[in-house]
Amino acid sequence: MRLVLVGPPGAGKGTQAEFIAENFGIPKISTGDIFRANVSGGTDLGRLAKKYMDAGDLVPDEVTNAMVRDRLAESDTVAGFLLDGFPRNVSQAYELDGILGDLGVALGVVLDLNVDNDEVVRRLSGRRTCKKCGHVWHVEYDKPDADGVCDRCGGELYQRDDDRPETVRHRLEVYGQQTAPLIEFYAGRKQLVEIDALGTVEDVTERAIAALTPFADA
Ligand code: ADP
Ligand code: ADP
Repeated sequence: MRLVLVGPPGAGKGTQAEFIAENFGIPKISTGDIFRANVSGGTDLGRLAKKYMDAGDLVPDEVTNAMVRDRLAESDTVAGFLLDGFPRNVSQAYELDGILGDLGVALGVVLDLNVDNDEVVRRLSGRRTCKKCGHVWHVEYDKPDADGVCDRCGGELYQRDDDRPETVRHRLEVYGQQTAPLIEFYAGRKQLVEIDALGTVEDVTERAIAALTPFADA
């Protein structure tokens, strides 16, 4: 299965990506996670990306595309992959076609998580991320047993700089202008599947897996 997840910031892409990838036995490739790992590792790529991420803007396409091209060339993607956070504009979608074409494969399906704006703001304002393993929690909706500590690995939880209200507003504008047009783009190609992403994490996972299972060989 070669799958792309789309949806606004805070829709639950990262949360669902873990369960979906596990269910179908494919690697989860999250461009946001790769950028954050580079920021904390102090690499040149991290230093460059940080300026854009802190402002809530997209990292330039040349940089992002090259990073995804390298990642998709790794051997674990042979059985398929789940892309979370890429493509994020139509130009990246064309680049993805090119990358997959060079690898001799094609995209199977694009899953769009539908959530209204108020819920997105509620989800983002309470999001907490583990410094060590990157797992995502929520202070109200998906709490770890002990405040501020990741149940999975014991790591410390933090609030992402770009989850502060001013930056969230800007990221939602960027989503509307640059990323939302992807929905029409993939719908036009008959590659889009949409699900309602309101409700508990478990309910959404069930809906996602039910919607994707028919594409399991794609
Ligand atoms: P969210 O989970 O809130 O949607 P991500 O973790 O996917 O956010 O992305 C965080 C930031 O990383 C984005 O605001 C952007 O600066 C950068 N980023 C992630 N993916 C891309 C991409 N495909 N193109 C450009 N920038 C990206
Ligand atoms: P995205 O990757 O789309 O930006 P995340 O997966 O990081 O979104 O989720 C954003 C926040 O919402 C996180 O704090 C997460 O714990 C929480 N969340 C995810 N799915 C749900 C859900 N179904 N109900 C309530 N909160 C959720």
